[in-house]
Amino acid sequence: MDRTYFQKGFGLRAEIRPQLLENYRSQIVDVMRANDFKLEAGGLTFLLAMEFGFCYGVERAIEYAYETVAKFPDHRIFLSGEIIHNPYVNHRLQRMGIRFLHGGTNRYDEVQQDDVVVIPAFGVPTSEMELLAKKGCIIVDTTCGSVLNVWKNVERYARSGVTSVIHGKFEHEETEATFSRTTLFADAHYLVIRDRKEAAHVCNYIVDRGDKLGFMSRFQRSVSKDFDPERHLERIGLANQTTMLSSESLEIANMLRVAMTRRYGHHEMAARFFSFDTICSATQDRQDAVRELQKRNPDLMIVIGGYNSSNTNNLLNIAARFSPTYHVEDAACILSAEAIRHKPAGSKEVIVTHGWLLPETARIGITAGASTPNNQIGESIERIVNFRGKMNYATLLGVD
Ligand code: SF4
Repeated sequence: MDRTYFQKGFGLRAEIRPQLLENYRSQIVDVMRANDFKLEAGGLTFLLAMEFGFCYGVERAIEYAYETVAKFPDHRIFLSGEIIHNPYVNHRLQRMGIRFLHGGTNRYDEVQQDDVVVIPAFGVPTSEMELLAKKGCIIVDTTCGSVLNVWKNVERYARSGVTSVIHGKFEHEETEATFSRTTLFADAHYLVIRDRKEAAHVCNYIVDRGDKLGFMSRFQRSVSKDFDPERHLERIGLANQTTMLSSESLEIANMLRVAMTRRYGHHEMAARFFSFDTICSATQDRQDAVRELQKRNPDLMIVIGGYNSSNTNNLLNIAARFSPTYHVEDAACILSAEAIRHKPAGSKEVIVTHGWLLPETARIGITAGASTPNNQIGESIERIVNFRGKMNYATLLGVD
């Protein structure tokens, strides 16, 4: 048995559970779950999405990181980047003594033989895994099963000479890890497309060919080495970053299917076009739950999660179509009943908005990204109610 590579936990769940509950649990959220995802407090009704917060992949990655600390008390423990995109969780892990590695591959320079390196839920590129193995590190791999499933598809494409077209963000850790899987095979290629606009550009090229130089200058950062659009768009297979907006991924798949059909005809499709929806079920469920929540008529929505969290941003994009929506990184962003710090949909800037909670506001919808712990939800509700000056914590829980 390989004693330097671990992927299945250390059987220390019972030992770490009290610490996890203390760090991430919320009694307010427990009460809401038991009460139809609703809480009446301070003259307000809080409505919680029926799927929210930690997904199975994040839960497992965090558990595994806690287990690692318990298992290797005498080793230096590093995390390859952020375990997930949530600053609160990352600070907690840092306080437990885990060191975070940031930057390019030279971030591993200080890592030595027998150090423990925890791989995050979204995985790392194959070259980094090889480097760590060569150094003789102990690798604790928390890559989520849903991400591994995407890799399986990409590898299958690569093996049969099909170019992987990945709907994702080129610079996102998960997408980087995903396209790196093609490097395991000779003459395998990929192209990453971020959105509908880029997909339309690719579709036009597939149908009409045309300006090859223009195509390459547009996609120079997001294609494999020696990518030739004339040859490498003849057979394509689709994959997604697991946290993309599912409706957009499906639309892009359809656009590419139509383009390939126009270019090659229906009879060629089975040999030239492959598509598997690799949006993970946790992402899909959280997106669907926000749409459902809108039917309960919230006056405004609060979306809680890291500003750089892809799945949280997609929850924001969905909610903002229906209600005024505030994406806060954590409960502390709710500054008062008058001011809130948040990142608006479609913006990269964090701003402070005044007059967000109006006297007539009665129903507040809440959801949280897959990397947000429940206590951030509970604290947000508590702060809002306290700012309204209506109630204390015990009455909020109905135990006063
Ligand atoms: S969002 Fe999906 S793919 Fe990502 S860690 Fe969670 S369950 Fe896994």
